[in-house]
Amino acid sequence: MNYNAHFRCFRGCPGQHSIYDVIYTCPICGGLLEVHHEVDALRQRSAAAWINLLTRRVGTNQWPYGSGVWNMKEWIIPDLADENVVSMYEGNSNLFWAERLGQQIGVPDLWVKLCGNSHTGSFKDLGMTVLVSVVKQMMVQGSPVRAVACASTGDTSAALAAYAAAAGIPAVVFLPRNKVSHAQLIQPIANGAHVLALDTDFDGCMGIVKELTQDNSLYLANSMNSLRIEGQKTVGIEIVRQFDWEVPDWIIMPVGNLGNISALYKGLKLLQDLGIIDKMPRLVAAQAAKANPLFLSYESDFREKVAIRAQNTLASAIQIGNPVSYEKAVAALRATNGIVAQATEHELANAAALADRTGMYTCPHTAVALAVLFQLVDKGLIGANDRTVVISTAHGLKFTRFKTGYHEGTLNEVESQYANPPLELPADVAQVRAALARKLDVVRSA
Ligand SMILES: *Cc1c(COP(=O)(O)O)cnc(C)c1O
Ligand SMILES: [Zn+2]
Repeated sequence: MNYNAHFRCFRGCPGQHSIYDVIYTCPICGGLLEVHHEVDALRQRSAAAWINLLTRRVGTNQWPYGSGVWNMKEWIIPDLADENVVSMYEGNSNLFWAERLGQQIGVPDLWVKLCGNSHTGSFKDLGMTVLVSVVKQMMVQGSPVRAVACASTGDTSAALAAYAAAAGIPAVVFLPRNKVSHAQLIQPIANGAHVLALDTDFDGCMGIVKELTQDNSLYLANSMNSLRIEGQKTVGIEIVRQFDWEVPDWIIMPVGNLGNISALYKGLKLLQDLGIIDKMPRLVAAQAAKANPLFLSYESDFREKVAIRAQNTLASAIQIGNPVSYEKAVAALRATNGIVAQATEHELANAAALADRTGMYTCPHTAVALAVLFQLVDKGLIGANDRTVVISTAHGLKFTRFKTGYHEGTLNEVESQYANPPLELPADVAQVRAALARKLDVVRSA
């Protein structure tokens, strides 16, 4: 079967463009593009046959179908040559049953999709495998592209640098100076990318990279490039597969530039179009109160896009004031009876600590989503029987300073309700026993 995918204008202007052309926006209206799949062709295969195919491929060694992204290759970039796929077996991340946390908040059917358990420690790997694979094929076919580039709040640059290095393609990353974590800064440095730290914020870096990539030799790897969305859309499909093809009631995720929530919806919509699911979850976009343009726009019923200057937040990867994928995200939220909510620094930091006490290791962005979950449960919007998924977007190990600051009680605007500082003691059995007896009943009897 010959499946087909092209770029088309997201707003519906006429015309289509090859996936392998250097083009990021609609030449007619200037809006975002999307990768369009011929659904009629895909529907020639039954829902049951698709389910069968995907289930058979999960975790296989047959290149490249073992990847959580490329096991759906026909739905992503059908005509990409297998030998040009640049994959690190991304996806297939754990859908963690948050049993203890769920019990504590009265939502026992609570799940956390651990997208940070991935090669570079964030969900950005899902989109980057697609973009870098397409670039590799373009370069093989003689395209003018010589290098890839992105602006980043830290995770996009880490993913781009790793995948580009694996493919042998030069990468240039633009970071807002002192606004990404230490781990995030060192990732692209280690992978040999050209790392430029600019005296501005993410939105400032984005403006500069957009200018520089006007030149076709430098290919833009931000999520305004809809190739990224194709890979990221697999997360919702994978969640549904992990529930044996059942749809949860709610999916909550932290949002910044709004690519990921657009992607989540696009994947679920494809499942619906193919007859694999027959309902949609309600989507919840969680923002940091310090960087909340989508929340402000939601408050006025999305009448117009709001752009602000984002303030510093612990959730640095979503510190974005002018989100690129605004229109796509609004469409996703409207189609799913979605909600936008925000969390303060205090709320997010304590939400992370509470979750960590049940075995997770929560990054500050995932914490924003958890804090919003707690709010919606308090308001009675999320009920005791609702199957609820929180998308964890990055690994907590990238954010050691956040964790340390929390447990030391030194974070701005945060009162650490679950601080757990280490006990510093002399190496003396009696004193150690006495200290433990104060902490644990069990030692008292010893
Ligand atoms: C990129 C990122 C987000 C936000 O995704 P958008 O597509 O920009 O909305 C959330 N959390 C983490 C950890 C990220 O790296
Ligand atoms: Zn258009």
